[in-house]
Amino acid sequence: MPADPDCLFCKIVAESIPSTLVHEDDVVIAFRDIAPRAPTHILVIPREHIGSVADLTEEHGPMLGRLFAATAEIARREGIAEAGYRIVSNVGRWGGQTVDHLHLHLLGGRPLQWPPG
Ligand code: AMP
Repeated sequence: MPADPDCLFCKIVAESIPSTLVHEDDVVIAFRDIAPRAPTHILVIPREHIGSVADLTEEHGPMLGRLFAATAEIARREGIAEAGYRIVSNVGRWGGQTVDHLHLHLLGGRPLQWPPG
């Protein structure tokens, strides 16, 4: 989908809003969450505007491969891969989604509780 002018993460992709980038390629970017919930808290997003997991189709398979592979690579680079980490994608209001642009939360650097609240 085309960039949404009202979407916060589309603005971060366009660099009209600053972010602390930790990864960028032609499909995916990643940046540090502004309100981290763990010592490492990074958001990994497609450049393309997709509302959430609920909007995915089979056509998004190659993009999703890049999204998850980039997330795993960032986890290794951040030094959290050996201890383990969590990847979360919130969907909708009850799922805790506040930004309607598909994103993976990469959380690590401390033991994480299960189930989440
Ligand atoms: P969610 O609530 O799952 O939709 O995740 C959205 C995340 O975006 C939250 O963890 C916010 O802290 C984070 N966030 C909001 N604005 C920014 C920003 N300008 N830069 C980085 N992270 C942000």
